[in-house]
Amino acid sequence: MIQIEHVSKTFSGKYGTVHALDDVSIHVEKGDICGIIGFSGAGKSTLIRLVNGLETADSGKVTVCGKELSTLKKPELRALRRKIGMVFQQFNLLESKTVYHNIALPLILAKTPKVEIDKKVKEVLKIVELEDKKDTYISQLSGGQKQRVGIARALTTDPELLLCDEATSALDPQTTESILKLLKKINRKMGVTILLITHQMQVVQMICNKVAVMESGKIVESGSVLEVFGSP
Ligand code: ADP
Ligand code: ADP
Repeated sequence: MIQIEHVSKTFSGKYGTVHALDDVSIHVEKGDICGIIGFSGAGKSTLIRLVNGLETADSGKVTVCGKELSTLKKPELRALRRKIGMVFQQFNLLESKTVYHNIALPLILAKTPKVEIDKKVKEVLKIVELEDKKDTYISQLSGGQKQRVGIARALTTDPELLLCDEATSALDPQTTESILKLLKKINRKMGVTILLITHQMQVVQMICNKVAVMESGKIVESGSVLEVFGSP
């Protein structure tokens, strides 16, 4: 599903050159829930931005859903992005709009017919168990409910891959657990592969089957959760 091979990425700024990624290799198979764990500044966001084509690698190869990103033209990259759902720490929802509107937005932008949009919104709201909140304004929801809406929105294009960027970092432990259970359900029942980045060990231990530990742009350990962290 994702092959990252010897990828490096540097940023140059006021304070010199930062090796955001330094010879990083990661393989994520279909059906995996792979966690990338590391402190702030380790390079996790840069890695996720490479996978969805928002950044390009300086060297090395990134292949997603069988496509090597550096070879793709804009329309092909756009088509690939429809197979990738994104879930964010701060939800990235329109607070003054309804749940329906937020979830429908990507479909409205893709000029999907209204009947299909209605059907899809109903379907994804069922998955995230928020069917009764369709007409509620985002500003009236709890953090956990907002993240469920964020996940529902990510599912509207039937993605093969979900990229979760600190998806539970703004939530309390109980809500975190319920969101992680939901992600696991989406992985198991819908066969969606998940790559998540987090700084929270319990997130990795709760749902991941694979983990890579990042430090200063390098993968310092990787393998099954059992191999890397030992038995609980
Ligand atoms: P993480 O997500 O693990 O916190 P990031 O990938 O955001 O790490 O950042 C890795 C390093 O690269 C940090 O030192 C960060 O400041 C730097 N960095 C990330 N994006 C940019 C950018 N667009 N320009 C300059 N430096 C950047
Ligand atoms: P996160 O903690 O979720 O990684 P950040 O605030 O670190 O969010 O980064 C937000 C955006 O800013 C990202 O797109 C990242 O690539 C970019 N960025 C991060 N660090 C730097 C930096 N030192 N200079 C410029 N852009 C940066």
